[in-house]
Amino acid sequence: MRFNVFIYILPGLSDPIKPSPAIMPSSKLRRFNFLSATLFGILGLARAATSAECCALVSQLSANMVFMPNTFTYATEQADFWSSTEQLSPSCVFFPDTPEKVAEAVSLFVQNDCKWSIKGGGHSAIPGAANIHHGILMPMERLKRFDISDDKKTVVVGAGNLMGDIYEGLDPHNLTAMIGRYQQVGLGVAVGAGFSYLVNENGLAVDNVINYEVVLANATIVNANATDNPDLFRALKGGSNNFGVVTAFTFLTVSTEGSVYGGILYYNESYLDRVSDVIYDYHVRFNPIAYNKAVNAFPEIFQGWLDIPTYGNTVHNRQYYDLSVELENGFPNGLVQEQRVFTVYADAQLYKDLWAHFHVWCQGYQHIPGFYGLHVNMPITARAVHEGINKGGNILGLEGAGNRTLGTIYFGVSFNNLEDIEEVLPAHDEFVKSMIALAESRGLLHRYIVDTGDYSYSMLTYSGFDQPVIESYGPENMQKIVAVQDAYDPDRVFQRLVPGGQKIPVPT
Ligand SMILES: Cc1cc2nc3c(=O)[nH]c(=O)nc-3n(C[C@H](O)[C@H](O)[C@H](O)COP(=O)(O)OP(=O)(O)OC[C@H]3O[C@@H](n4cnc5c(N)ncnc54)[C@H](O)[C@@H]3O)c2cc1C
Repeated sequence: MRFNVFIYILPGLSDPIKPSPAIMPSSKLRRFNFLSATLFGILGLARAATSAECCALVSQLSANMVFMPNTFTYATEQADFWSSTEQLSPSCVFFPDTPEKVAEAVSLFVQNDCKWSIKGGGHSAIPGAANIHHGILMPMERLKRFDISDDKKTVVVGAGNLMGDIYEGLDPHNLTAMIGRYQQVGLGVAVGAGFSYLVNENGLAVDNVINYEVVLANATIVNANATDNPDLFRALKGGSNNFGVVTAFTFLTVSTEGSVYGGILYYNESYLDRVSDVIYDYHVRFNPIAYNKAVNAFPEIFQGWLDIPTYGNTVHNRQYYDLSVELENGFPNGLVQEQRVFTVYADAQLYKDLWAHFHVWCQGYQHIPGFYGLHVNMPITARAVHEGINKGGNILGLEGAGNRTLGTIYFGVSFNNLEDIEEVLPAHDEFVKSMIALAESRGLLHRYIVDTGDYSYSMLTYSGFDQPVIESYGPENMQKIVAVQDAYDPDRVFQRLVPGGQKIPVPT
């Protein structure tokens, strides 16, 4: 078995980024109540509509935005998901192209009890996170706004941009943003958590959003930032699709020297232990480093990676866009994908043992067509957490880690056929539970005790369908989340009518 390690060496800034206060123009609150009333008169029904009726209603907003199952556009969109478990049977696909169209549609959906899904880049592995059976699939992909500010310190991106679009737009300006690392991934990342190339210096993707433009359940379009709707702003930094449809994100940018030195290193499995040590070393030693210079060779701190023989090395000086394209190779759409995640305190021996156990476990599934196991261990350094706090704070509940580096432990499986789900997925779940128990037995599990149970922080963007993500943010954050829900969505529209993804738990 061979495995890959991704290395990014980060060109650009000599100084760490100074967080600028997140100041946005005062919120433009555009009310659509008048419109809803009109629509209800023209289009509405006196009872809850069937999904077919919902499609007919929304197509009256604009016929060329709605596609039915017998069309090529529907078929293409329905298949455009990373995991085949996300390829469901929506009644129609509705592509809004402005925030106002989203607001009109939300008004219509609420009044007629229409269920819908919100799709960014379709890269969640959770069935139904961004797609829906017998409801309306609403991809964001026509919301393609892309505006770099005059001072180049921020960029506004429409919710339909993928990571590749954003890198491609920023590269020519010697800028980059804290988003995700892979070309085809969408902006679900920036309402979940978000590992970028520069996470250590700048914090998670959610920490680098300074404004969310959101359509709320009452069909108003609001800005959520440090001064306008600050409670909603904070809750969106991890709250996913639970509070509204985000139509645009404003990100802080970071200056670069025009390129990144990065790529993939390939090692043979016989070096697993040594690579694991280098990963640990990188997680903890990287902590004080703010490295963002244009280079043509590995700086000293990365020497450990080169001391281990590689059988392939694609690291070179390039554009961020180019790097994001290379990383996407090997992660095609349309296979069965399942993933699980938990969080530990960085520990060299645990890192080795997790690799070794997974390696053995995977041997038992080699007979499954297309079987592929993926273990990723991504650091959340104390510095990254601190950056998040400096930039206004999120609701992920990571502050308690103090000076210790956290390891985000991901185990994923991938294979060709849905019929193998029964054999692989329950066993994968059991395996991951045993690894959580292992970490716990060594006192290395990052955990919260909530009155409903005992949770390890589970990063939403890498979570499994039944992992209790929102609870894992800790009791204080849970309270804040419910308070925001009470204030912005008292009728629980985004709970009832947007059922997919990681939802706020319903009290029993
Ligand atoms: C190949 C691959 C590479 C990845 N690389 C990275 C990486 O480098 N860094 C990282 O942090 N993560 C990474 N991820 C994980 C990724 O962040 C999550 O899968 C994320 O949820 C994907 O967002 P999306 O928009 O593509 O997904 P979708 O499945 O479209 O959306 C995910 C969830 O977000 C909600 N959502 C999306 N857009 C909006 C919106 N505008 N308003 C409200 N809710 C919305 C959806 O309803 C859904 O529940 C990767 C995943 C894959 C498969």
